[in-house]
Amino acid sequence: MNSIMQTYGRLPIAFERGEGSYLYSTEGKRYLDGAGGIAVVSMGHSHPKLVAALEAQVQRLWHVSNLYEIPEQSKYAERLVNACFADSIFFCNSGAEAMEGAIKVARKYQAANGKVERYRAVTLEGSFHGRTLATLGAANNPKHLEGFGPPVQGFDIVPPNDLDVMLAAITEETAAIIVEPLQGEGGIRPLDINYLQTLRSVADKKDVLLVFDEVQTGFGRTGKLFAHEWAGVTPDIMACAKGIASGFPCGAVLAKSHVSDAMSPGTHGSTFGGNPLAMAAANATLDILLEEGFLNEVNRISSLLKSRLDDLAGRHPEVIKEVRGSGLMLGIVLSEPYINTVFCDYARESGLLTVVAGENVLRLLPPLIIKEPEIDIILNALENACISIKSPNSSEN
Ligand SMILES: *Cc1c(COP(=O)(O)O)cnc(C)c1O
Repeated sequence: MNSIMQTYGRLPIAFERGEGSYLYSTEGKRYLDGAGGIAVVSMGHSHPKLVAALEAQVQRLWHVSNLYEIPEQSKYAERLVNACFADSIFFCNSGAEAMEGAIKVARKYQAANGKVERYRAVTLEGSFHGRTLATLGAANNPKHLEGFGPPVQGFDIVPPNDLDVMLAAITEETAAIIVEPLQGEGGIRPLDINYLQTLRSVADKKDVLLVFDEVQTGFGRTGKLFAHEWAGVTPDIMACAKGIASGFPCGAVLAKSHVSDAMSPGTHGSTFGGNPLAMAAANATLDILLEEGFLNEVNRISSLLKSRLDDLAGRHPEVIKEVRGSGLMLGIVLSEPYINTVFCDYARESGLLTVVAGENVLRLLPPLIIKEPEIDIILNALENACISIKSPNSSEN
């Protein structure tokens, strides 16, 4: 047991198989995966198209380095660029690495334009950008920083949705503004649409880059391919990961060409980034995401789920304060004295896996392919959890 470094508080459950929205434990119990491997398994478990794409690639070629052309990577980048604001993409392996890359690209852009003094970034309280030293510095969460020495410098942290403090924080040393359009780990906290829109015009006016961390919100999670589409604003740089390849590790830094032009051979790199296996999974995921009507269905099913959750909140107002979020990235805000981790345990006992977030929130991040019968299962389990948490001693199963 202790041969694994103890960085997680793990539950004593293991899964041996997954199919669609369901996971099957080694003890034979079926769970609805309402957390989707933390917003990762966008197409559900063992999607036949992903299985086929990966099996075919496994037979042909797993890995070549970025010293060579990787046709699967070029093809994927071209398709993704055609589907969004970006002109070019750098591939890596995780969200934190994508954010590190985004920060580096922003700094390099300013330096390449003769403004080496512009290296800082304004970031938001309650954000999460990963667990590397720089991304911890960017989020400035004291719980994550404790014991790891002085936080990496170069970040100015302001409260979200407050334009005056944002404006005051931007100086001649600012390279970029970095925000999650909808904060995930912080508690499914949305940014106001007009705040996002104003950040865009402020960035343009001050020659500061706008960087979106869409590691959690990207790839259909909020009902659009990218969450910033809801606000009608585009970033200069965007970091992605989680849902990009439906469970195969992959990250990406996307940028407009005037920004990525600053990056020349040797300025950044990744050994594994964008290898043929990752690109097979990413290409197959994008195939499904871009299918006619796929995102419409995500929006239909998610508004159904949202309204059923609102009804649940109406039946248990003393437990549920609010339901918020967008698409299939929903947060149930619990009222004190009820605690999200306890609620999560009760839901799991009723066969629903969820994940907690800041501000006493329970997060629902199910596969984007969930259907109506699964909505019933989610609601059933949450109803049970509401009842159990109010009367913990009347034993439920
Ligand atoms: C999960 C997450 C990250 C970090 O991703 P890892 O793959 O765990 O490194 C960064 N930003 C946001 C918004 C995330 O949700």
